[in-house]
Amino acid sequence: MSAPTSTPTSALTIVGAGPAGAAAAIGARHADPSLEVTLLDRADFPRDKACGDGVAPHVLDLLAEVGVTGLLDDREPVTTLALSRGGTSVERTMARPAYVVPRAVLDARLVEAAQAAGATLVRHRVRSLDELDDAAVVVGADGAHSVVRKALGRPQGPTALAIRGYAPTPPDQRGTQRIAFGAQGDVQPTYAWSFDRGDGLANVGYGELLRAGRAAPTKARLVERLEELLPGSTRAGTDWVGHHLPLSTSRWHPADGRVLLVGDAAGLINPMTGEGIFYAVATGLAAGRAAAEAIAAGDPDGAGRRYSRATRPLLAGHLRHTALASRLCRSGRVLDAGLRASARDQRVFDDLVELGLARGRVTPTLALALAAAYLAPTSRRPR
Ligand SMILES: Cc1cc2nc3c(=O)[nH]c(=O)nc-3n(C[C@H](O)[C@H](O)[C@H](O)COP(=O)(O)OP(=O)(O)OC[C@H]3O[C@@H](n4cnc5c(N)ncnc54)[C@H](O)[C@@H]3O)c2cc1C
Repeated sequence: MSAPTSTPTSALTIVGAGPAGAAAAIGARHADPSLEVTLLDRADFPRDKACGDGVAPHVLDLLAEVGVTGLLDDREPVTTLALSRGGTSVERTMARPAYVVPRAVLDARLVEAAQAAGATLVRHRVRSLDELDDAAVVVGADGAHSVVRKALGRPQGPTALAIRGYAPTPPDQRGTQRIAFGAQGDVQPTYAWSFDRGDGLANVGYGELLRAGRAAPTKARLVERLEELLPGSTRAGTDWVGHHLPLSTSRWHPADGRVLLVGDAAGLINPMTGEGIFYAVATGLAAGRAAAEAIAAGDPDGAGRRYSRATRPLLAGHLRHTALASRLCRSGRVLDAGLRASARDQRVFDDLVELGLARGRVTPTLALALAAAYLAPTSRRPR
C-alpha cells in the first residue's frame, strides 16, 4: 500500500477499508466497472480488529450476489450455538453453519476482493471531510469512532464496550459458539462468549452496555466478568483488545446528500448480539451501488437518497424488531423465557438466530413461544 502526503481522492472515495468500506468498493465497481474508486485506510492490511470474529452465512450470500465467492472455503464452519443464562440453557445445531474468522484474515481477504474488483487502496488517515472535497461521493466506513460521522454532526447512539482475546479451545467446545448472558442484577444485554475458530483456538470475550453517568469498566474488569460467566475461558488467553460497539436503534435513517455512512460509522451493530459484520457488508454494498448510480446519472448529491431507498426496505423493519427485542431482553425473565422456548422448539431457536445474526424479525412463532414460556409457572420466580 502506498503512503502519500496529500489525500488521494477519486470520484468515489471511501474512508475505511474494513468490511463496510471494502463492500462499498465492491458494490460500486459491480454497478459500474469503469468508476474510479479509492479506498483510504489508516492501517496496513492485514490488520487486527477487536471482534468476536463470528461471521453469519448471510454475509457470504450478500458477497456472492456481487460475484465474490469462495472467500471462506478453507475455514471450518461452526455448526452449534449454545446459549445460557445461569441455570437456563439451550444448545442446538444452527439452520446454517456460521464461521469464526480472525479479522486479520477476513478483512484482508475482503480488501483483496475490492482490489481485484478494481478499487485502489491507499494508506492514509483522514482527519477532516475538507480533505475529500474533490470526490463526487464520499462513503464514511471508518468504524465506531468515525471522523466522517462526526464531521456530519450525526449523534452517537447507545454504545457497548467489549473485550476479546484468544485462548485454546477446550475439546468439548469444538465446533461451538457459546454465549453466556449476565445473571441476576446485570443490565441486559450483557454477555460473555467463546467462539471456536476451528484451528485450536477460540475467540473469547465479554461486552456490556455503557450507561450514562457510570464509569466505563476497565479492561481488567471486563476480563474478570468473562471469567465469571465462562469459568476457565480466560486461561492461557492472549491478544486482549477492547473496542466500542455503536448499537443500532429503531430510529436509524441515512441522510441525504453526497456523504454516506455505512457499518459501524452508521451506528449499525445489533443491540442484542453485538453482530455488525452483516450490516457493514449490507450497507457497504448498498452505498457503493447508490454512489455509482448517482455519479453515472450526474447527480452525486442524490447518492444519499438512493442509498436510503435501498436500505430502508432492507433494514428499517428489522431494526425496529431488534430494538424491541433488545428492550425486552433487558428483563432476565424474558431472556430466560426465550432460552426455554428455543430449547423446546427448533423453529423458535432458528428465528432467534436470524434476528440476532442477520435481518430477521420477531416472527409470530417467536412471539407466541416467548409469551407462553414467559407465562409458564417455572418463570414466576422473582428475577
Ligand atoms: C469485541 C467486539 C466483538 C464483536 N463481535 C462481533 C462478531 O462476532 N460478529 C460480528 O458480526 N460483529 C462483531 N462485532 C462488531 C464488528 O466488529 C463491527 O460491526 C465491524 O467491524 C464493522 O465493520 P466496519 O467496516 O464498519 O468498521 P471497522 O471494521 O472498524 O473498519 C473501519 C476501518 O476504518 C479505518 N479507519 C478508521 N478511522 C479512519 C480514518 N480517520 N482514516 C482512515 N481510515 C480509518 C480503520 O483502520 C478500519 O480499517 C464486534 C465488535 C467488538 C468490539
